[in-house]
Amino acid sequence: MAVRFVIIGAGPAGVQAATHAARLGAEVTVVERDVLGGAANLWDCIPSKAMIATGAVLSVARRAEGMGLAPLQAAPELEALRARITAVSDHLERAITGLLADQGVRVIRGTARLKGPHEVVADTPGGIEELSPDAVLLSTGSRPRIPEWAAPDGVRVLTTRQAYPPPALPRHLVVIGSGVTGVEFVHLFRSFGSQVTLVVSRQQVLPAKDPEVAAALEEDFLAGGVKLFKGARAVAVERQGDDDGGDVIVRCDDGRVARGSHALLAIGSVPNSEGLGLEAAGVEVDEGGYVPVNQHCQSNMAHIYAAGDVSGKLPLASVASMQGRKVAEHVMGLHTREHRHLDYEKAASAIFTEPEIADVGLAEAEAFAIGRKIRVTKVPFAANARALIDGDPRGFVKIVSDPATGIVLGGSIVGRGASELISVIALAVTAHLKVTDIVESLLVHPALAEALADAAD
Ligand SMILES: Cc1cc2nc3c(=O)[nH]c(=O)nc-3n(C[C@H](O)[C@H](O)[C@H](O)COP(=O)(O)OP(=O)(O)OC[C@H]3O[C@@H](n4cnc5c(N)ncnc54)[C@H](O)[C@@H]3O)c2cc1C
Repeated sequence: MAVRFVIIGAGPAGVQAATHAARLGAEVTVVERDVLGGAANLWDCIPSKAMIATGAVLSVARRAEGMGLAPLQAAPELEALRARITAVSDHLERAITGLLADQGVRVIRGTARLKGPHEVVADTPGGIEELSPDAVLLSTGSRPRIPEWAAPDGVRVLTTRQAYPPPALPRHLVVIGSGVTGVEFVHLFRSFGSQVTLVVSRQQVLPAKDPEVAAALEEDFLAGGVKLFKGARAVAVERQGDDDGGDVIVRCDDGRVARGSHALLAIGSVPNSEGLGLEAAGVEVDEGGYVPVNQHCQSNMAHIYAAGDVSGKLPLASVASMQGRKVAEHVMGLHTREHRHLDYEKAASAIFTEPEIADVGLAEAEAFAIGRKIRVTKVPFAANARALIDGDPRGFVKIVSDPATGIVLGGSIVGRGASELISVIALAVTAHLKVTDIVESLLVHPALAEALADAAD
C-alpha cells in the first residue's frame, strides 16, 4: 500500500514535498487554508519582487539621459501596480494548482490540525474531514512579528503584508529594521520616489552580512538621500492626524525621534505553530514556537516532519523548497541511498536592492572570525565591459577559496544581476569545484559573468 502523506500548508516547502513525494509513489494530501504557493506567493517573495521589478523600470527611466536618450517620463500608478501584483500571484497559483493536479496530489481547502500522532483534522467549508496519515509534514510558515509598541493599521503604520502597495505612496517612510526585508523596502520605496529613514538597531545595516557588502549598500543609501538612524531601537510608534494627513512618529530608545508620513515594521517573523495540535501529537516546540528538526527535518516524533519557516532554519523560500524535497525522499525511504544532506551553510541568498547583493558559503569576515586560512580575490564591475555598456558599473565580485586546494568556499556579489550570477558560485561551492574551473569556463563576451572568472583568477 502507498505511503499516506499529509502536508499542512502549501508554501514552497509543502508544494515541493507534495510533488516530489507523489512522483516517488506516495499518496499525498495537502491542506491549505489560503493560497497555493503560500505566504511566499501571496505576501512575501512574489509581491515584493513584483513591486521591486516595477521600481527597477522607474530607475531605468531615470537613467535614460545617461544612456543617450531624451528624458523619459514614468510615474507609478497604484491601482495598475496592485492589479499587476495580483495577476502575477494568481498566475503562479494556477501554475501550482496544475502541477499538483498533474502529480495526482489531493488538495483540501481548509485549516488543519493534528488530533493525535497519526490523526489530522481538516476544517473545510464543507465540514470536518479526518485523515489517518503514515507521515505528516508541518509546513505552515510564519507571519510578521508585531511588537507591543506598535499597532499596524494598514494605512500609515504597515506590516510587510500591507505594503504591496499601501493605499497611498508614502511621502516619507520610516522603515524599522535593517535586515534583508527592511533594506529591500528602503530600496523599493526609494525607487518609487518616497523619502526614507531607516532605523538600524546595530551599527551596520544587514548586521549578519559581510561588512564590506553592508558598507557598499550603506554608501548607496546615503548617496540616495536615505537617512540612517544607527544604533537606535524603536520603542514606540505614534500617529498624529487622520488617514489623509499628519505624521507618524517613531521614538527610539536613545531619545531620537524619526518622523515620517508612514512607518513600516520589518522586525522579523513568528512561526505559525499555534492551534496546530502539536501537543496532542506529542510534537515539541522551542521557546520561540518553532518546531526543532534533525538533518532529515524530523521533529521529535519520527513520522512528523517540519520544513520551511516553521522549522526555524533559514527563512528562505529556496531553503523551504529544498527541505520539502528532502522530506519527501526521507518519507519514501530514499535517504539510505544516494541522499545528500541539506547543508544550510551552502544556501545562496540575495537581497533585491539596487545594486543587488548576493552571497553563498563562507564569508571573508566569518573565515577571519574562526581563524580559517583563505584566499580572497575581488574585482570591481567597473572593470567589466558589460556593466559599463549597461550603464551600471557599481559593485564587485568577491570569491573565497581554499589556498591549498583552490576549492571555492564562498563568494559575495554586489552589483546588477547579483541574484542570478551567484548561482555559479553556489554550484561551485556545492560541487566542490576549484577556482580554475570557473576561470577556464568559456564564457560569453561581453557578460557580467566574466567578472566571476576574473575574480576567481
Ligand atoms: C517581505 C518578504 C520577502 C521575502 N522575499 C523572499 C525572497 O525573495 N526569496 C526567498 O527565498 N525568500 C523570501 N522571503 C522568505 C519566504 O517568503 C519564506 O521563507 C517562505 O515563504 C517560507 O515558506 P514556507 O513553505 O515555510 O511557507 P509559507 O510560504 O509561509 O506558507 C505557509 C502556508 O501554510 C498555510 N497554513 C498555515 N497554517 C495552516 C493550517 N493550520 N492549515 C492549513 N494551512 C495552513 C498558510 O496559509 C500558508 O499558505 C521573504 C519574506 C518576506 C517577509
